[in-house]
Amino acid sequence: MQTMPIIQKRDDFPILQKVIYGKYPLVYLDNAATTQKPRQVVEAMTEEYYNVNANVHRGVHFLSQKATELHEASRETVRRFLNARSTSEIIFTRGTTESINLVASCFGQAFMKAGDEVIVSEMEHHSNIVSWQLMQERLGIRLRVVPITDDGRLVMDEYVKLFNERTRIVSITHVSNVLGTVNPVKDIVRIAHEHNVPVLIDGAQSSPHMKVDVQELGCDFYAFSGHKIYGPTGIGVLYGKEEWLDRIPPYMGGGEMIKNVSFERTTFNALPYKFEAGTPDYVATTGLAKALDYVNAIGLDAIEAHERDLTAYAMQRLMEVDGMHIYGPGIEEHDAVISFQVGNIHHLDMGTLLDRLGIAVRTGHHCAEPLMRRLGIEGTCRASFALYNTREEVDALVEGIRRVSQMF
Ligand code: PLP
Repeated sequence: MQTMPIIQKRDDFPILQKVIYGKYPLVYLDNAATTQKPRQVVEAMTEEYYNVNANVHRGVHFLSQKATELHEASRETVRRFLNARSTSEIIFTRGTTESINLVASCFGQAFMKAGDEVIVSEMEHHSNIVSWQLMQERLGIRLRVVPITDDGRLVMDEYVKLFNERTRIVSITHVSNVLGTVNPVKDIVRIAHEHNVPVLIDGAQSSPHMKVDVQELGCDFYAFSGHKIYGPTGIGVLYGKEEWLDRIPPYMGGGEMIKNVSFERTTFNALPYKFEAGTPDYVATTGLAKALDYVNAIGLDAIEAHERDLTAYAMQRLMEVDGMHIYGPGIEEHDAVISFQVGNIHHLDMGTLLDRLGIAVRTGHHCAEPLMRRLGIEGTCRASFALYNTREEVDALVEGIRRVSQMF
């Protein structure tokens, strides 16, 4: 029942009408990598470039003030989307990767020294591993890793055991981009806070699929990317509690992030600008706000219900294929990402041949090499869903996999 209003939105996404290798319509199942953009987002950005464009925060003239209003209204839209207390807690970045690097670098500089520890997990994206390894190089900190079960869930008993007097921060993904696992982030935060340790949640794969309320989660930082939630590329968000953002140093130096500059001493701007050096991508923030409005108008509950239905259907249909192995937990804890392997067909061959049938899936290690190592594999094929995907597309995927299998 819930699928109808969402499926009708396909017309908002012109790219879904594309013919690829003579196949129509395109079956786009690479949404965990990036989502397609509705007209509303693209048109809002075009409109801004055509009619409003001017640099923000600096001009007294009409266009600059208009552009600034749009930019700051977008920040308020993001605040509401996450239910943050204040717009001071919403920092615009280039995406999840930059948001995590910002926290690792600035939190690291302020609060960590040699021997101090960050807790990450075995299912992290490289961005939430390498950012901390850079701090390992720079400061001598240590990464402690929460192991996962064979079916891709965090071993929470081991998580609890990792805390000690050197633990400074926990940095964990909300939803795995490979396994689709939805992690118990509320428990993760509660346990960390019992040890007075703050938590960064990587929300790259949760923000597009479920309602996120940062106050309810209680997390100290939350990162997400615009392009994974129907918004433009090159824009993302770091939410941070004011009490932490106030205490950590700026990330980059330049215009906008300063109050006064002299060669002797520079003072920094108030939040959130302290973390936003240089001209922001103010057109992309408009696009991001439009994307969030778009998602809100449909309702994240409806999107989640539709995608859960689709994922359950896909898991059931895929298992009908001979030699099918699906990674990750059962459907109750499984979000809209399905990684699979069919017999001994190489994931690259499977992905390439599916592409020839007009079906776009992801192949490879999905920027999670340590997870691949844990699973004892080099890579997987991954199908991931968005609000515009349909059961018919799942059927096309299953049929496509069957055809590819027959070739081997
Ligand atoms: N974290 C997770 C779980 C992801 O899936 C991704 C992207 O796939 C990222 C972080 C990095 O996001 P971005 O490349 O948009 O910065």
